[in-house]
Amino acid sequence: WDPETFRQHGHQVVDWLADHMAGIADLPVRSRVEPGEVAARLPTSAPGEGEPFEALLADLDDVVMDGMTHWQHPSFLAYFPANASPPSVLADLVSSGLGAQGMLWSTSPAVTEVETVVLDWLVDALGLPAAFRSDGPGGGVIQDTASSATLCALLAARERVLDGAGNRDGVPQGLTVYASAHAHSSLEKAARVAGLGSIALRSVPTDADHGMAPAALAEAIDADLADGLRPVMVMATVGTTSSTAIDPVAAIAEVTTERGVWLHVDGAFGGSATVCPEHRDMIAGLEHADSYVMNPHKWLLVGFDCSAFWVADAAALTGALGILPEYLANAASASGEVIDYRDWHIPLGRRFRSLKLWWVLRSYGIEGLRSHIRAHVAMAQQLAGWVADSDDWELAAPHPLSLVCMRHRRDDAVAERAMEAVNASGNAFLTHTRLDDRYVVRVAIGGWRTTMDDVRGAWDDLVAAATRIEGVGHG
Ligand code: PLP
Repeated sequence: WDPETFRQHGHQVVDWLADHMAGIADLPVRSRVEPGEVAARLPTSAPGEGEPFEALLADLDDVVMDGMTHWQHPSFLAYFPANASPPSVLADLVSSGLGAQGMLWSTSPAVTEVETVVLDWLVDALGLPAAFRSDGPGGGVIQDTASSATLCALLAARERVLDGAGNRDGVPQGLTVYASAHAHSSLEKAARVAGLGSIALRSVPTDADHGMAPAALAEAIDADLADGLRPVMVMATVGTTSSTAIDPVAAIAEVTTERGVWLHVDGAFGGSATVCPEHRDMIAGLEHADSYVMNPHKWLLVGFDCSAFWVADAAALTGALGILPEYLANAASASGEVIDYRDWHIPLGRRFRSLKLWWVLRSYGIEGLRSHIRAHVAMAQQLAGWVADSDDWELAAPHPLSLVCMRHRRDDAVAERAMEAVNASGNAFLTHTRLDDRYVVRVAIGGWRTTMDDVRGAWDDLVAAATRIEGVGHG
């Protein structure tokens, strides 16, 4: 392809995407294909000769689209959102087109420097502690996911506890990690990958609102210390996956500070909300944390993947992950004046991810992002009011952000079947969890095009489906 051919096909692709955006609301939200159906539409081997671009584009419609669940659909209310706003999509295109690999400052200085500056902007925009800014010993880095960031936090915490030894000489027994019973499973995965094993993970009891009980945390750590174990890290969550429960960071920080244990805070979803000053209470105490992660790729209009991870002091992180083989040595790294982000995460190679964060921050501005968050929170509060007023449904958890958790007042099976009926209809997509041993339907609001009408439609459909199912069930 010469540049003119690229231009022509590039325009075709942008046209295709713009049409897709314009028509997405008419598509079923959740894919309806059976397992193997997409694969069966593909030839069994790659073509011998190259094909015309038009054939590739046609197969987006003929092969791919039926197998897509539309995360950008306004009635996608499942899991948590993964917003791909238009400026973010275009920035990703530019990042791919530039094709730079920013493993070292010297392999593309702009890739590193835009990232550092934009993550400093985000510290201020989200009201995070100044220790996370890059002008001191701390700083931020973009990772692919919160799972990777939490693994890095654990590796840094382990480095600090073992004074470096464990990262080179194998992992000793008896290291322990703490999080609430509602913490994300990525912590258990991190414990396994870091060689601590799932067995290292202590599940700390929660209070009635599903937030971690700090007294129970203190008790768990002290019991382990008395047994000669070595507590490595506590993870507090601000916005759990099941119900957006908020662990009390300040009280947890008192426990960790007294005992010298690394405090990592997981704000993967909820962290976007602190762009609004009225949501900053939930990160009170974060100034005592050693690390923090939040995902702009969930609720801050940046397309997947873009997870922002900060450390108050990068020494343990780069101590755990820094290795300098001869083939990467260069004058800029040797000068000590530049950041080489390869030492801040697991992979060596890295894309120009900060471009999409930069473009989103500039396109919407902080006020634009606040409006987007506030609109979703307001929709959730309205929905919660309808649930509370319902004779058939009730709230299953507090709703501090934009997730509403509800259960059927009488019958979990009705809730489950009603949710499945809504999902099968294609009109909306909801997911579930279990809280207090009950089946709970989650309505996660946060899509960049979701409106009150979409939320109302999903609620009406759920109520109607449950009424129908209960009526049939009772003969
Ligand atoms: N932490 C929390 C609280 C989450 O809700 C999630 C995902 O929903 C994660 C971590 C994992 O996110 P990622 O897919 O970026 O690893």
